[in-house]
Amino acid sequence: MSTATEFSGLIGIDLGTTYSCVARLSREGIPQTIPNREGELTTPSVLMVEDQMVVVGREAKRSECVYPDRTAICVKRDMGGARYSRSLAGQEYRPEILSAMILKRIKTDVESRFGPVQHAVITVPAYFDDTRRKATQDAGRIAGLNVLDIINEPTAAALAFAFESHRRRNSHFEAFARQAVDSPTTALVYDLGGGTFDVSIVRFAHDRFETLATDGDVRLGGRDWDERLVTYLAEQFRTAHGSDPRDDPQSLAFLYQEAEKVKHALSVRTATRVLVSHDGQRLSLDLTRRQFDDLTADLVLRTETTTELVLDSAGLTWSQIDRVLMVGGMTRVPHIREMIQRISGKEPDCSLPADEVVAQGAALHGGILLARMAKGKGSINDSALGLWVEFESIDVNSHSLGIAVRRPDGGYANSILIPKNTPLPVERSRTYHTSAPNQRQVRVRILEGEAYEAEACVQIGEFVLGGLPADLPERSPIEIVCRYTSDGRISVQGRHPNTGLLAETTLVSQGRLNDAELREEARKIGLLEIV
Ligand code: AMP
Repeated sequence: MSTATEFSGLIGIDLGTTYSCVARLSREGIPQTIPNREGELTTPSVLMVEDQMVVVGREAKRSECVYPDRTAICVKRDMGGARYSRSLAGQEYRPEILSAMILKRIKTDVESRFGPVQHAVITVPAYFDDTRRKATQDAGRIAGLNVLDIINEPTAAALAFAFESHRRRNSHFEAFARQAVDSPTTALVYDLGGGTFDVSIVRFAHDRFETLATDGDVRLGGRDWDERLVTYLAEQFRTAHGSDPRDDPQSLAFLYQEAEKVKHALSVRTATRVLVSHDGQRLSLDLTRRQFDDLTADLVLRTETTTELVLDSAGLTWSQIDRVLMVGGMTRVPHIREMIQRISGKEPDCSLPADEVVAQGAALHGGILLARMAKGKGSINDSALGLWVEFESIDVNSHSLGIAVRRPDGGYANSILIPKNTPLPVERSRTYHTSAPNQRQVRVRILEGEAYEAEACVQIGEFVLGGLPADLPERSPIEIVCRYTSDGRISVQGRHPNTGLLAETTLVSQGRLNDAELREEARKIGLLEIV
């Protein structure tokens, strides 16, 4: 396969909770969002299952009101779990299968315009744990994508912003440059999408960027703002007519769609009117931006608290933040922009399109990887290649990584080897001790989380270091080595130093599909008509 084809076959995908977006690189190395078959730049991450056919996107979103029991929404919230939280047309689906259907549709749309897709970079919230990352990677594989990398959404967004600054400074676009990036820029990325919230602090110079701290909430996003409106509108309706639209799945789905429209309208207008229909009755209501802000004030506050916490954990104050980058469709809500301005004392930077910037950053990241692999042989022109290979990126882990150790009282504690917000890649080792004489094996349970109690953390895998020599005294040393790669993947090794005995470095993730199952799912999806 020639490098030329590889570059043109590269896409970056922002697989969002409510909307997804895909981008590629032009021959000049500039990221471009690819419209879907309907000509829209984002595709609703909604699907409707119908016999051998799966409808994805706008049509599926519309059909949610008509066939709520066949329509899957917010699949991303269940990623990493064993099954999607709602059954579809009486059938259970794994979230990665449903996500694969969305990805397949995106892939088909791109291929119909630009030819075969060879490589993809898919983004995930920085706060996704290892299980959710792997489930996302599996979804890509089931969809027939060669997943080059999984990267964090705020990292991708920051990369797109950094690249834009770099491009302005280094290329013929200089004439348009408004700001020179001569000294490193420290930026806070505030990323509020449809279903997840992430804050990261990144530092970028013209040739490098690193993430200093990150935190977030996988269950907070635009959908929660919609839900507040749904609750308000349903209660007004009940007061007026005595029945509740939330009791009927179709009326409820319709109400959600109206609520989202109201939210969008209130981003540009200070008041709007909404029509609620249910059970043959209608209610017309006026709603002001002020009312909307009051209904959702605590949600905005939650993001404010997390933002301040991340700043704190990076050991920074607002005066040390140069730019606040606004990412995700929800950052168009004026109340959110006002909050950021109030706490940071800075004008939020909305200079790149909020719902495309993550996919564009993902395409850039893929370009950087391919450019490094190609070492200058690419079809992309030399100045673009030069821009990319210069970039160096450093990420941090979003959850502490530790192992379960026995406490004197018999319970288990989380012994943290790699604390959260450690720059990646990283390798840390520590010596532990056997707890009994003649212990022939050690079970190593790998934990993600910050809690002291092992049981309050998420166990992401375990392995057994077996075959230890007989008659080892109690408290014999066992060395544990944890490795965290730049893409957030983890491996752990156990070693008995005296014999050199190594444990298998398998990280068993509960409920994951094995290779044969992945192939089988890919085959089944291949038989479906995905439109
Ligand atoms: P994303 O995942 O970045 O595409 O963000 C999707 C979320 O942003 C959804 O909850 C959308 O309803 C919301 N959103 C998109 N555009 C707007 C807008 N103009 N005003 C308010 N919310 C918006």
